[in-house]
Amino acid sequence: MPATLSRRAPRRFWGWGNADSVLDAREQAITQLLLARIGTAQAERPEPRIEEFSMPAPRISAPPALAAQFSASPLDRLNHSSGKSYADCARMWLRQAPTPPDWVAFPEDEQAVIDILDWAQAQNVAVIPYGGGSSVCGGVEAAVGDGYAGTVSLDLERLNRVLEVDPLSRAARIQAGALGPELAAQLKPHGLALRHFPQSFEFSSLGGWIATRAGGHYATQYTHIDDFVESTRLVTPCGVIQTRRLPGSGAGPAPDRLVLGSEGSLGVLTEAWMRLQLPPRFRASASVQFSDYPRAVECVRALAQSGLNPSNCRLLDPQETLFAGVGTGSASMLVLGFESADHPLQAWMGRALELVGEFGGSYDQAAVARSMAEEHSDVHRQGAAGAWRDAFLRMPYWRDPGVGLGVIMDTVESAVTWDRFAEFYAGVKRDIARAIKQATGQDVLLSCRMTHLYPDGPAPYFTFATRSADGSVASALAAWREIKQAANEALVAHGGTITHHHAVGRDHRSGYEREVDPLFRRMLAAAKHTVDPQGILNPGVLFDPCGRALGLTGALLP
Ligand SMILES: Cc1cc2nc3c(=O)[nH]c(=O)nc-3n(C[C@H](O)[C@H](O)[C@H](O)COP(=O)(O)OP(=O)(O)OC[C@H]3O[C@@H](n4cnc5c(N)ncnc54)[C@H](O)[C@@H]3O)c2cc1C
Repeated sequence: MPATLSRRAPRRFWGWGNADSVLDAREQAITQLLLARIGTAQAERPEPRIEEFSMPAPRISAPPALAAQFSASPLDRLNHSSGKSYADCARMWLRQAPTPPDWVAFPEDEQAVIDILDWAQAQNVAVIPYGGGSSVCGGVEAAVGDGYAGTVSLDLERLNRVLEVDPLSRAARIQAGALGPELAAQLKPHGLALRHFPQSFEFSSLGGWIATRAGGHYATQYTHIDDFVESTRLVTPCGVIQTRRLPGSGAGPAPDRLVLGSEGSLGVLTEAWMRLQLPPRFRASASVQFSDYPRAVECVRALAQSGLNPSNCRLLDPQETLFAGVGTGSASMLVLGFESADHPLQAWMGRALELVGEFGGSYDQAAVARSMAEEHSDVHRQGAAGAWRDAFLRMPYWRDPGVGLGVIMDTVESAVTWDRFAEFYAGVKRDIARAIKQATGQDVLLSCRMTHLYPDGPAPYFTFATRSADGSVASALAAWREIKQAANEALVAHGGTITHHHAVGRDHRSGYEREVDPLFRRMLAAAKHTVDPQGILNPGVLFDPCGRALGLTGALLP
């Protein structure tokens, strides 16, 4: 049996990145600094090795006609046993494979996807669609209960091509398994780009973005992948749903709206037509300091309501500047940016900085001027804003060494209207800090940045880091479960959503069930029942797996 059927560079099954990725000296220093602040002993622990995991034999046989596309190798099963949340990585450090699927399928084409669903339906096998596996909410774990004969993780990596480009409408038909860098490289020769950059860009796929309604780097206007989707193609156990390519339509409820955020529970996305853009020629950037956080929040609200639509407008609270290694923790920082393929941005940045001035923000005027001085400038990669950008992209790598030392590092994110923000910010921080104190007895580093902004409210994103009292991963994981439950509760109780862009998966289902009207959930269950009558698709995300037949009389009834 080959070690893997994957054709991609080997991934690190217990953390972020490729198997051979390492931290550079600067990153190691920042990591050590963070560990020291958390009070963790810095002795290294041996990284998990594949030989340390025992894997039960598959409970079912692979379909003979598709056997060449099925793998039961320990590495493939381990890599597909979970996503990349803190709990996923902690379980790997404990040498406990989360929930390995019986098989991992690597379909060569859409017909193979159809055949696998037919086989799975006939054999009572649960199918978990898998893109890049970067889910942080239990979206790809084969935790489906015991009502199935077996489980298959359906990895779309071989469906990773840009199939067609329409330069006139500026759109492309792209296969769903393409990872961010793969689709960007194929679009580049056409002079076009999708410009959707989630932090997980390197290791997440188009299908995963659509299935989870991912949030990209644009802070305003094109916040979710939704805004770039022109049409979708979904393979379901009952047939294929192809939506039409249209720039807009008022013809009833939009079918793509049901596909977006369906998290693999309604079908397998095989391709989508995506709206593209020209790469930016003009940029303008500023890094603004505020000594007063509430004033900074007012400023950001004014910017969000100004109609200027900055591409970047991320407010870091004082603690967040510490986390990112771009501040001392005494002032807030606003990373402000505009980009355009069409026009210089002096007027936009000028007006934004007037607003910044009105609310007491300070910035380096010369640096702002430099950022706009030339076309194709890379000044936005320099200075404090550039340092923040680098830290943002590399931060996922920094978490890994700490997990093995009993450090708990995680994020929760939400969105809330401006009228509730002040209470939400204070309440969520208070509740999470209290839960951490109770669960670990430790203090916490707890910070917030706004990832996306709307005229009617921000999307706050909280990061916390603490450690278990005894330094063990087992007690850290037990504590994390309590903290996570309290955080989920806090987000919804203080008026926010359980998730702005990380999706529901299995870990956020309790909050989702609280925030969505029961009648809507029954309506959605009816839709699932229509395309997946036997409930084989990703049981446990969005819906309770016990309601698998979804006859609308079981567990789904509120
Ligand atoms: C370090 C890190 C940073 C992150 N940053 C961001 C961020 O900036 N913005 C953001 O929105 N999210 C972020 N995430 C979360 C995650 O990257 C997103 O949810 C992403 O959209 C998942 O894409 P994926 O291809 O990895 O999907 P997977 O993890 O493989 O799957 C996620 C869900 O989508 C379903 N799915 C995947 N592919 C398909 C398909 N082809 N058809 C049907 N269903 C499918 C799966 O069944 C599962 O329910 C981050 C995660 C990590 C670990």
